[in-house]
Amino acid sequence: MKDRVILHADCNGFFASVEQVFRPELCDLPMAVCGDPENRHGIILAKNEKAKVYGIQTAETVWQAKRKCPDLVLVPPHMDEYRRFSRRINAIYADYTDMVEPFSIDESWLDVTGSQQLFGDGKTIADTIRRRVREEIGVTVSIGVSFNKIFAKLGSDYKKPDATTVFLREDVEEQIWPLPVTDLLFVGRSAAATLERARIRTIGDLAQADRELLVKLLGKMGDTLCDYARGLDDSPVAKIGEEREVKSVGNGMTFRRDLVTEDDIRLGLHGLCDSVAQRLRRSGLRGWTVQVTIKDANLKSITRQTTLPHATDLSAEIWQTAVELTLANRPAAIRMLTVTVSGLTDEQGGEQVSLFDEDELPDLDRQRRLEHTLDTLRDRYGWSAVRPGATIKNDIGVDDEAPKGATGEP
Ligand SMILES: [Mg+2]
Repeated sequence: MKDRVILHADCNGFFASVEQVFRPELCDLPMAVCGDPENRHGIILAKNEKAKVYGIQTAETVWQAKRKCPDLVLVPPHMDEYRRFSRRINAIYADYTDMVEPFSIDESWLDVTGSQQLFGDGKTIADTIRRRVREEIGVTVSIGVSFNKIFAKLGSDYKKPDATTVFLREDVEEQIWPLPVTDLLFVGRSAAATLERARIRTIGDLAQADRELLVKLLGKMGDTLCDYARGLDDSPVAKIGEEREVKSVGNGMTFRRDLVTEDDIRLGLHGLCDSVAQRLRRSGLRGWTVQVTIKDANLKSITRQTTLPHATDLSAEIWQTAVELTLANRPAAIRMLTVTVSGLTDEQGGEQVSLFDEDELPDLDRQRRLEHTLDTLRDRYGWSAVRPGATIKNDIGVDDEAPKGATGEP
């Protein structure tokens, strides 16, 4: 069978680039977008090319950044603008294929296998898209072209800004295998440390490692990463609109021991709500309804749900609601909990500000900024980089691996 042609398009310094469209004078100054410019512990979310020269890094604090570059211009984030730009950029992608799958606000996969007769080969389409996004939107994009999603993503990271990198099947051993294993999608800090102990340092080391050893080291993720390194990922690029058909986002867990105390329940729900919220944000969705399924020690389960005064994608709100529902319906011992958010809407539609309590709004804004910051940190350092102190040592099995869990049950 002929190889697929997959593109991964990644906007360069996206938040900073959008700010520069509105304030072109910022192009000539070192500038960074950060969570809370007034707070020296605020975190850098994005930086422009001029700031990069000073070694400013995403996810460091304002204080660290200012030490490197005292004249750094700090700009607060404008998430609604970023979402608007993201939609416009994805609309350009959609001119070349009906298979466009956003991965985050500034990254999407495109399957252009069937588009080549009309628009040229993968590299030609990538170059055309880069030019159009630069000219029509004012943002530069790096694009990886390969035969699967994982290597396409690797390609968009390989050369930037404003570049196209092609990895063909015959390039894998020579070009991909020498790259550090941490370049591979989903190899976070803790997985990298585990692999380092087994002296697996490059993608080639990973590809040649024994699959059973990897499973022993990393569990199911070891199996997945083995496929990734060997070029065996065959996951499809979703069709446009497929995500909109997602009816709910949920995650469940059977605990290592039964949950008995209120603290157990809070802790058990925390990671679940966190992962559900992050997946909602990734998909640009918010939900009106929070549902909890509680399975007791005799495996009898009940489901309870409540509808919020507004649609949310915030971990803190989902958690608070899930804790209340669980405590109100709590058996003596809980074996398993599942948290599901449904009644999904895309963020624009969900934003019914009039429903917010006036006093509540700034808090929600602050919480939203905080949680977006967490997303940025986790994208960069892995899921375990940020987690509540309480989960660091626990005996119920809430651990530091990136959450999996089912999406989109009908
Ligand atoms: Mg980017």
